Amino acid sequence: MLSQGTQGQPDPVISEYRGRFAPSPTGPLHFGSLFAAVVSYLEAKRHHGKWLVRIEDIDPPRELKGAVTSIISCLEHHGLQSDEDILFQSRQSTYYDQMLETLQSLNCLYRCPCSRKQLADTAKHLPICRQQEVEGLPCAIKFKADGKAKVWQDGMLGRTSYLLDEDFVLKRKDGLYSYQLAVVADDIQQRVTHVVRGADLVESTPMQLALYDALEVSPPQYFHFPVVMNEQGQKLSKQNLAKPVNIDNATQNIQRVLAMLGIIPGGDANNCRSLLSNAIERWHPDLLATRKSFVEPAIC
Ligand code: GLU
Repeated sequence: MLSQGTQGQPDPVISEYRGRFAPSPTGPLHFGSLFAAVVSYLEAKRHHGKWLVRIEDIDPPRELKGAVTSIISCLEHHGLQSDEDILFQSRQSTYYDQMLETLQSLNCLYRCPCSRKQLADTAKHLPICRQQEVEGLPCAIKFKADGKAKVWQDGMLGRTSYLLDEDFVLKRKDGLYSYQLAVVADDIQQRVTHVVRGADLVESTPMQLALYDALEVSPPQYFHFPVVMNEQGQKLSKQNLAKPVNIDNATQNIQRVLAMLGIIPGGDANNCRSLLSNAIERWHPDLLATRKSFVEPAIC
């Protein structure tokens, strides 16, 4: 079935589009994350799909106390509500271990005691590293890269290809699960069909595709959009002290995001849900086609 988008192009109606927004609670929501939430939301709703929120709280040492609650509340204040129960990665350990067992049974994994420094110091570390499991030493669980190119048709970047020539960690020596494992496991479990996220994550995609290949599961479609930078040209992040989004300015913030996307806000200017639902039919990924990045507004 096809419906007519306002950009003059037919929008495909994908019967079971399932998108998601998956913040890590390393700090409160900043404008770049709000932008990501809105883009993934509009793209899901353009396809009449579901939009899910997943909290990627798999790294307690990097987590900021209170960030989970503040992120969820900030999204809700901005009219962004998950269509299903929010999934918390911190509750998924049993499932991640099962996935590791499956990958182990497929001979995709090995245990590695090397430190990052040891690996960096060793010119051809991979074959050597793969032989180094030592009884009694803490080991990371790594996925064996096949050294082949991973190619995908990105909804924003077009045909994209990366050589996957480095093994990567799925479970760290300290017992924490890696982002690559958790994100693939959860996207499979939540039946995510479309991953719409910032271009800063594009280099993770080949690793994630390698996991889908190994598990013989069809990957979702990927769409990497330009990210929001600060005035110094750095991606907004906790490290460069990105300002938290102020919920008291919620409707203005949504209007700022829409303006950055080139969408003239319509609907009730004092109601985020109204602004968002009005924006759905005005949104199209082509609005981002000529953009490389965005700059954070002075107030948010
Ligand atoms: N949790 C990741 C982040 O906050 C996003 C993961 C993803 O969208 O795949 O950067």
